[in-house]
Amino acid sequence: METSDIIYFLPPALLGVIAIAFLLLWRIGIVDAWHWSAAFAQAGLGFVISTFPIEPKFDAFVSGMIFMGAACCYSIAIRLHFRVPNSKFWHRTFVTGYTLLLCQFVFVMESLKYQLFLTDFAFACVLGAAVLTVAPKACRAADIALVVTAALIVVDTLARTFFFTFFFESSDQLADFADSTYNLAVHITTITIGLSFPFAALGAMASKAIDRHRDTSERDPLTGLLNRRGFEKQAVRMYRADSEGAVVICDLDHFKEINDRFGHAAGDRVLIELGAEIEGVMGRNGCAARFGGEEFIVYLPASSLEHATTLAETLRSRLGRMDWQSKGIHRQITASFGIATVNGLDDQMKIAMEHADQALYSAKRLGRNQVIVAGVSSPLSSDPHVWRVPAIV
Ligand code: GH3
Ligand code: MG
Ligand code: MG
Repeated sequence: METSDIIYFLPPALLGVIAIAFLLLWRIGIVDAWHWSAAFAQAGLGFVISTFPIEPKFDAFVSGMIFMGAACCYSIAIRLHFRVPNSKFWHRTFVTGYTLLLCQFVFVMESLKYQLFLTDFAFACVLGAAVLTVAPKACRAADIALVVTAALIVVDTLARTFFFTFFFESSDQLADFADSTYNLAVHITTITIGLSFPFAALGAMASKAIDRHRDTSERDPLTGLLNRRGFEKQAVRMYRADSEGAVVICDLDHFKEINDRFGHAAGDRVLIELGAEIEGVMGRNGCAARFGGEEFIVYLPASSLEHATTLAETLRSRLGRMDWQSKGIHRQITASFGIATVNGLDDQMKIAMEHADQALYSAKRLGRNQVIVAGVSSPLSSDPHVWRVPAIV
């Protein structure tokens, strides 16, 4: 080796350290890290074999298989990260075809050029296919960075293999690989472009873990809706100071009795159903949360009072008509609703929530199973369940 030997030792050493780091992440419970670790370990091992040649055919065949193993692990790791299913059938078929061709080029034709072209091209195909399938799902900045980095590696691999196969004159002897310009180029691109790959993977994994953690702390595990903390954050984000919105608070009637008569598990099923019903009726333009035990809240930004009242009334009547027999509850379940408007003043959200809560209290006091709008004194509709009462300030 004429060029400074450090270039040849760096990739396997760095890839080995990176593989160990990902293995440690896997050990502490980050499941996706396993395939990353296996991929970087195999890539490092492939470099070790080419750095310390044993026998030309052995080096060519074993390193070719190891790099294909690395490509498959990268592909699985990327797909797992984006929750895109893996096709074992296509992977196995591709690897079988690759192995047969590799045997042909190494053991029959003994051609270094064909062997290198095959390995690089197959590597780029496996990684490129993974990139293409996950790209539409990359939304977070870190995910986009991972996809772009992987795509860059695919382009680099293809550019290198086409250049050295078709535009660069070099020996075709398997034994000449270790000292070839190609080998030097692979090591240099690995130290530069290749090393951004583990960092991009780490960034994407960290970003996903943070999002998952945030989601757990801001969501109610029973209904999947936001919890109080999540609602407060989301509502602030959605709050439109320039236009009117509405807050709807809903509380199940005599829920304690349902728990006492039919069991806590049956009560839980009611909460789950009501959560799903609220989400379905609300659609995409609002945010809903389970605010406490059997109390739910919906914020509808840029919505009229009429729209909020229709939503609450729809929910109230749907809930009242639901048949709970199959869930072991042999009685009708109802809920009361309080509504208040949110306008563009500071702190209006907090005030509106208080008003909606007071309207809900009125609904309970007036006999339950009804919708009460805070701050309005004239009847809103002919429906006997919809009333308007003055807000209690
Ligand atoms: P009201 O009509 O006045 O609202 O009467 P209520 O019985 O619904 O109200 P109360 O506040 O007395 O009781 C609320 C009940 O909600 C008490 C508690 O056992 C139940 N609860 C709170 N959280 C959960 C939960 O996660 N699961 C179940 N199954 N029940 C819950
Ligand atoms: Mg209740
Ligand atoms: Mg309650």
